[in-house]
Amino acid sequence: MTLDLPARLDLDGGALVANWRALARMAGVPAGAAVKADGYGLGARGVADRLVAAGCRDLFVATWAEALALGECGAAVAVLHGVREEDMAATGLPNARPVLTTPEQVRRWRDAGGGACDVMVDTGMHRLGVSAEDVAAGLLDGLRIDVLMSHLACADENSAMNAVQRNALAGLRDRTSARRLSLANSAGIALGKDYAFDLVRPGLALYGGVPCAALADIIRPVARPEAQILQRRRVPAGGAVGYNATWTAPADTEVAIVNLGYADGYWRGFSGKGFVRAGEAALPVIGRVSMDLTALDVSTAPALAEGDWVTFDYALPKAAAASGMSQYELLTGLGSRFARVWR
Ligand SMILES: *Cc1c(COP(=O)(O)O)cnc(C)c1O
Repeated sequence: MTLDLPARLDLDGGALVANWRALARMAGVPAGAAVKADGYGLGARGVADRLVAAGCRDLFVATWAEALALGECGAAVAVLHGVREEDMAATGLPNARPVLTTPEQVRRWRDAGGGACDVMVDTGMHRLGVSAEDVAAGLLDGLRIDVLMSHLACADENSAMNAVQRNALAGLRDRTSARRLSLANSAGIALGKDYAFDLVRPGLALYGGVPCAALADIIRPVARPEAQILQRRRVPAGGAVGYNATWTAPADTEVAIVNLGYADGYWRGFSGKGFVRAGEAALPVIGRVSMDLTALDVSTAPALAEGDWVTFDYALPKAAAASGMSQYELLTGLGSRFARVWR
């Protein structure tokens, strides 16, 4: 039996594809897509199907479990965390390849026969990757590498580190068998063509995130949480709403309780800060967001009734400022209780 869920993510496939195209145009080279963390919470398969249909040929996931869950989707799937010993059984997946990140992984991959792979080189973030010195000294010699990539630590800032990382990757251009070099994430694309190399790897901006001002006018929102009203009630003047009674009605107030809470990724930081749309009305979140429920002041929406749907304000830069969460967290926190509905 399939239940009609009381919360849904309204997902705009046209905006997703338009964002991907705009980023590729800005980069001047092909764009892949980071679909790790279940497509940043939107649903990796739904995202992948739309981007692959639009021409995307390179997808990035974090783990082999994510590659397995994604399945065969018509594009190459690169696994950013490389291969642990425990992953070797999964590496036969057609179209999937590891992004080798440590000398140990390089050895493991070579010992297993050394099929096509990608490699992450650390150019200064000191997170994942083999060192540029090791690459220069021959660590990767003889490997069949598609993409040699690195990752920017400060792409969303005007930082001297960006050029240092760019130059370190460029210095390895002819040192390996790699067919392509890749450096830029979403914000890196906005740093200019010097950072594009042969392939860019946007994530956040595909999904409506705006990591830097240069992308503000070209990125369209993709995901809008919607939820159903469970109860409409009148709270008398002086009555309190929600846990710890943090909101008290200054006058008799019409209140709606909706089917969404922090377990769905509508974080407690939206308490007293978030807004919901119903037609023309902007309805403020009042009191504390609960695990499964959020209260709204609906005094300006007299027709809104039990069973009606409302749309949460979720333009990511604004929602991040309101809630104190990052745009990344706002997306990846979107929970498993939403119906994910593409239009
Ligand atoms: C997540 C990730 C990306 C995408 O980054 P965004 O900031 O979301 O665009 C690109 N490359 C790597 C290695 C990543 O881990």
